[in-house]
Amino acid sequence: MNPPRSRSALRLAWPEVVLFDLDDTLFDHTWSCRSGIAYLRRKDRRLAQHSLDELFREYSRLLEAIHPQVVAGALTPDAARLHRFRHLATWGGFEIDGKEAARFSEEYRRRYLRARRPVPGARAVLDRLRGRTTIGVVTNNRAAEQDDKIRAIGLERRLDFLVISEAEGVSKPDPRIFRIALRKARARPEEAVMIGDSWGSDVRGALGAGIRPIWFNRFHRPMPEPLGVPEIDSYTPVGGLTRLLPRSP
Ligand SMILES: [Mg+2]
Repeated sequence: MNPPRSRSALRLAWPEVVLFDLDDTLFDHTWSCRSGIAYLRRKDRRLAQHSLDELFREYSRLLEAIHPQVVAGALTPDAARLHRFRHLATWGGFEIDGKEAARFSEEYRRRYLRARRPVPGARAVLDRLRGRTTIGVVTNNRAAEQDDKIRAIGLERRLDFLVISEAEGVSKPDPRIFRIALRKARARPEEAVMIGDSWGSDVRGALGAGIRPIWFNRFHRPMPEPLGVPEIDSYTPVGGLTRLLPRSP
């Protein structure tokens, strides 16, 4: 009979550092975004011609298309939001002027902020990891926005460090941003795990830096490439993630 594995043996197998993406990995961006869009849809008959799912899908597509310009500092977040609502209106079959775009943008933003919450189960996961490993966040966005989100959802004392693209001048999937995180954790790539929802930024990014990825696939998307990357669709129960963390012997 095999002897039972001791707690210390298990602890030795844990990664030195667990890195998380922020948006839609720890912070529930989708929830906030849908709340903002749902509010506008209730208030505006022209938007109500489309389902919430359709509007959300198009808004997310615009966000993804425009966001790199915000990360690069070429557009302010407010200007980007105005762009998105003008494009969303055009997509929906109507035109809005700058003033109306500003109204949409302000109302959306207010609802977005009010709905901020962690991804369900994220706080419990961080509490389980606390003291067993170093916990870092690697995220692409403006530093003020990400710091504010982390505080708003009560994560600041649960994280050991943040690496934010704006502050570092480099964004995921560039391996340099992951190396900055490894330096902060004093860990080698093989001693780290990266968890994130974006295949391109988080999974591909981690692989490019020699870090083991776990894909946070909450919305059950098909794996874009047959790489056999481990995936989870939720943090409940906590063990769904933690059983994937120790390195295989
Ligand atoms: Mg993300």
